[in-house]
Amino acid sequence: MTEAASRTGPGKTPIPFDNSYARLPQTFFAPIHPTPVAEPWLIKFNRPLAEELGLDADALERDGAAIFSGNRIPEGAEPLAMAYSGHQFGSFNPQLGDGRAILLGEVIDIHGKRRDIQLKGSGPTPYSRRGDGRAALGPVLREYIVSEAMHALGIPTTRALAAVVTGEPVQREQLLPGGVVTRVAASHIRVGTFQLFTSRGDAEGLKHLADHVIARHYPQAAAAERPYLALLEAVVSAQASLIARWLQVGFIHGVMNTDNCAVSGETIDFGPCAFLDEYNPSKVFSSIDRGGRYAYANQPSIGQWNLTRLAETLLPLIDTDEDKAIALATAAINAYGAAFQNQWLAGMTAKIGLTGQEDADLALVQSLLSAMHAGEADFTLSFRRLCDAAENTDADAAFLALFADPDSARTWLADWRARLSRDPQTPAARAAAMRRVNPAFIPRNHRIEQAIAAAIGDGDFSLFEALVEVLANPYEDQPKFAALATPPQPQERVLRTFCGT
Ligand code: AMP
Ligand code: MG
Repeated sequence: MTEAASRTGPGKTPIPFDNSYARLPQTFFAPIHPTPVAEPWLIKFNRPLAEELGLDADALERDGAAIFSGNRIPEGAEPLAMAYSGHQFGSFNPQLGDGRAILLGEVIDIHGKRRDIQLKGSGPTPYSRRGDGRAALGPVLREYIVSEAMHALGIPTTRALAAVVTGEPVQREQLLPGGVVTRVAASHIRVGTFQLFTSRGDAEGLKHLADHVIARHYPQAAAAERPYLALLEAVVSAQASLIARWLQVGFIHGVMNTDNCAVSGETIDFGPCAFLDEYNPSKVFSSIDRGGRYAYANQPSIGQWNLTRLAETLLPLIDTDEDKAIALATAAINAYGAAFQNQWLAGMTAKIGLTGQEDADLALVQSLLSAMHAGEADFTLSFRRLCDAAENTDADAAFLALFADPDSARTWLADWRARLSRDPQTPAARAAAMRRVNPAFIPRNHRIEQAIAAAIGDGDFSLFEALVEVLANPYEDQPKFAALATPPQPQERVLRTFCGT
């Protein structure tokens, strides 16, 4: 078959691109092709996602090693690296951009939504600075597992369409096999993308970007009296609810820099991310987060800090009178606290099986969390076993067994049952509803590390496959995967996670 024929397949291109970002001014990106790799091998292809995107899944599965490694550019792609700035751990860096990611283009999915298709680890770009533009296989597998798990948990997130090994080593602290992950996102536009235009003093570019984001993500803002204020309000609301969802599953992003904060409200950039095992609000895993800036319980306030940086960029678009713009933007940012708190509390009361809300429910939730913290109880298992206790007091013992000192948890159970008596649900219906919001399975850090070690050390992808499979249905008890639901043994505990860059 000729190259042209293999590109097009029988009657259609495998990826029907429609690239709106590539049509933006040249100041937004640098056109760049992926750098071919030696011997690509397709580890994983996400067929359901390909179908949701309206792609030719058969053609992609057949040619996936070439396409998802960047060795073959599918017809209609317009590869580019996006330009952006960002605050990293609080310090502004004007020159970031996609240093190891290349956007192939966009497609309209079967729901009519525009989605980016991007290769990550596909070679250097003009924004690579001193980096090699590559990704090690470990972080590729981690991103695949965790982003797909987040999706199945019902949390807005970028997705993983494919993972390949490149057949080429990358030099990190040691030589590691290289990989490429194909990331799908509503867009890759970040708070840091707005900051880029502000730092360049490019008012026209900024307005162009804001209009693009409104059209793409928040079209209802266009009809508002102040569209750019409405844009800010929409992003505030999306981030508030995203971060509330993170906390409800014990997720720690780990590197919530403004360049890792997507304006779409999706979770993006699964670097040193990790899930809580035992509940500890000040938990930090990331090796580079020495001050705990991105600790579990700091995430809500850091979200607001990031949004304040977005608001600063939008001021000139909100009103030509700076004082007025600041007053309006400040009100929008101040709305974040209540938006977050409402989302968080609604989710937490649902986790303990309540359908309505009473004033004292916040205290009830907090006293459970305090007992879990003091008792070093596993976050995920505590809530999952509470589902059983909602149905049957015989299950109390298994819940209490999670607590080092079960006395306060026992008191809490009595308070909880008193509250449940005023909530109009049958025990069976309540337990079922609770099992739909309290996962049995999360991507446990030690299992991810074990999956990566087996893949790199022995070329054994079976644990990776098992994790992807079980985490596709995290709210279902899957007895054959019971071992993947449990916390680490002391020697298995993961103490530190790494960016993997
Ligand atoms: P991250 O920590 O993944 O959010 O990356 C922060 C910045 O560093 C982004 O501009 C990345 O593109 C860049 N970067 C990270 N790793 C590499 C690498 N291996 N080569 C080139 N650029 C990189
Ligand atoms: Mg990033």
